[in-house]
Amino acid sequence: MSHKTLTIALAGNPNSGKTTIFNNITGTRQKVGNWPGVTVEKKVGTVNKFGYELKIIDLPGTYSLTPFSIEEIIARNYVLDEKPDVVIDIIDASNLERSLYLATQLREIDCNVLFALNMADLARTRGMKIDGQKLSELLDVPVVFTVGNKNEGIDALLKQTVELAESEVKRPKRRNVKYSKDIEESIIRLKQFIDEKTDGDLPYNTRWTAIKLIEDDKIVKDRVVQKTGDVAQQILQVAQTLRKHLTDRFDDDPQIVMTDERYGFIAGIIKEVQTASTKQRIDISRNIDLVLTNRFIGFPIFIFFIWAMFQLTFTLGDYPVQWIDIGVGRLSASFDRILPDNLFKDLLVNGIIAGVGSVIVFLPNILILFFCIALFEDTGYLARSAFLMDKIMHLIGLHGKSFIPMLMGFGCNVPAIMAARTLESEKDRILTILITPFMSCSAKLPVYIILAGAFFGAKAGTVIFAMYVAGIVVSIITGRLFRSTLLKGADAPFVMELPPYRVPMLKSLLIHMWDRSKIFLKRMSKVILIGSIVVWALSAFPRNVQFSKDYSAETYNVITYYEAEKKSAAEPERIELDKKQQAAVDELLRAKQAEKTEKSVIGRIGKIVAPLFEPIGIDWRGGVSLLTGFVAKEIVISTLGVLHAVQIDDESEALKNAFLAAGMTKISALAMMVFVLLYLPCLATTAAIRRETGSYRWMFLSIGYSTAIAWIMAFFVYQGGRLLGYN
Ligand code: GDP
Ligand code: MG
Repeated sequence: MSHKTLTIALAGNPNSGKTTIFNNITGTRQKVGNWPGVTVEKKVGTVNKFGYELKIIDLPGTYSLTPFSIEEIIARNYVLDEKPDVVIDIIDASNLERSLYLATQLREIDCNVLFALNMADLARTRGMKIDGQKLSELLDVPVVFTVGNKNEGIDALLKQTVELAESEVKRPKRRNVKYSKDIEESIIRLKQFIDEKTDGDLPYNTRWTAIKLIEDDKIVKDRVVQKTGDVAQQILQVAQTLRKHLTDRFDDDPQIVMTDERYGFIAGIIKEVQTASTKQRIDISRNIDLVLTNRFIGFPIFIFFIWAMFQLTFTLGDYPVQWIDIGVGRLSASFDRILPDNLFKDLLVNGIIAGVGSVIVFLPNILILFFCIALFEDTGYLARSAFLMDKIMHLIGLHGKSFIPMLMGFGCNVPAIMAARTLESEKDRILTILITPFMSCSAKLPVYIILAGAFFGAKAGTVIFAMYVAGIVVSIITGRLFRSTLLKGADAPFVMELPPYRVPMLKSLLIHMWDRSKIFLKRMSKVILIGSIVVWALSAFPRNVQFSKDYSAETYNVITYYEAEKKSAAEPERIELDKKQQAAVDELLRAKQAEKTEKSVIGRIGKIVAPLFEPIGIDWRGGVSLLTGFVAKEIVISTLGVLHAVQIDDESEALKNAFLAAGMTKISALAMMVFVLLYLPCLATTAAIRRETGSYRWMFLSIGYSTAIAWIMAFFVYQGGRLLGYN
């Protein structure tokens, strides 16, 4: 069976994968020699496919087809003289801009060209999307995607090649590189002149010839002389005149102007076919950075973003928080109704649901906060925030990178401490881990909300904000202190990586958010559940309490008193009396419950630790709550609720009254908030510190130091406040 032969040349930039593809196609059937007269390697191979014998030539790798380098001359001469049936231009798809220069040159030469967009895998991993269809339409060239080193797309490439060779009718060549008006006019005039004079004798595309003559290409000039004889001088004469005209016009060599215009043309193609090239992204990023990391406005913008983050977290989060709150309340109420009064019900309703419920309501806040942080991270802004904070962080003796864990500390300290892993220097990492717990985590917020809400009314927001600021100030002071004592040494020099900005993908945002929220949820399902049960058990036992007064008798008295009053009252007053009666009965119930707790195990513990907390204005109930807060900071509030025997979810007067009845004042509430802000990190955080620093030493240091600072600060607030006459 005799095969028709097709000659196929592989052209392309060096390292575009030509040889790889050549080997894929030809396998072992290749001959290696030199191009005639030079020591440039020539590889030829054959393969039988689709009923043809395909003769494949690996041309030297070139970026262009100028007559200045031996490789380019070889490649161009081959295309011009041997007229291969098809030239496959192997294009490095991950570097489209550079590759397209040769592609446009091949296009102008008007050979039968086909584009293989090789390195398609690299392009993909670098986040570039190339519209092959569009590229094919724009340049009127078939396009095939390939991955040379995995032999992907090679069959499709050969199939297209054969089809292209078979297409008898020459494809209408529509889009060549278009030059600017003056150049284009010169090209057309010269082309027409050549067409007239040579009458089709010239074996090359005349537009291409005209272009090359205007570029003053020596080799093409020689070829024109060889092929056209007499008229050659006339043609060269016209070309020379046009060149002179263009040189005057642009004040530059036409060749240089045309090269520029080709790149312009390529830039246009890239815009059309490629989304987000690395280069473009970097340019865009640079422009964004001019604003976002600007010396003057960068910082205010950053503060605004942080403010917006907290705003979003707590205002938007407030809605789901309320829904969950209502849900937990209903759940609790329905168990209360369904179950008979016994120990188990007490455990379930007052222990588990109350404990876990008081924490789970903050889940929406946590999710939103972590979503925002993921957004900063995935867009690339987080790295900029580190950059912006660099100066300020140097005050602590750390650099900007440490800011990221600290920022995350506002959400939850556990992932924050884990985030310190990105710091190269051991000392920097430990220092960051030690100061991160002073960033007021979201678990402390409920405590502030309850206390500030009860005592500071309209000013609650400001007081809470002050807590956050105080935490930051203490972390700065601590940083300086440790840097100059325990963790001496200069902050490690480092390179701030500024990745290009990206439009974040929702999926990755959600994954990042979830990764961190998971830690919070895990904590809830184990630590907080167990903690709630323990706190409940400590407060529920012993069961038989000797009460200081006979609550049932008093309740009876109250009821008989009001019933009698109601009989002699008019209708509207009766409703008033009803309310009063209910309130009095409730108060007695609460007092009974409170006394019961006071005489329980937890109450006794409270009495023991009370002297420790007295100087900072915190009574035994507060003291116990703070102890339970080691399990998790949120538990402080539910313990307070248990000890005062009030429901936490109603922000009513009841709680405030209970606080007041227990002798709390504005100033003692403030001292308690300060203590909560600063004292020992929660169980999960402590474990994380131990794990991440690799030693118990740092863990105990953190516990001891923070608790001491908390006590001292609270002492100053309370005693200082009293000295100033606040109460
Ligand atoms: P040539 O200079 O054009 O002949 O390029 P080579 O064929 O020598 O390839 C240069 C390098 O690119 C080699 O290491 C190949 O393994 C690799 N390569 C070739 N094609 C691909 C591809 O599609 N994807 C990737 N990732 N690498 C490729
Ligand atoms: Mg090679």
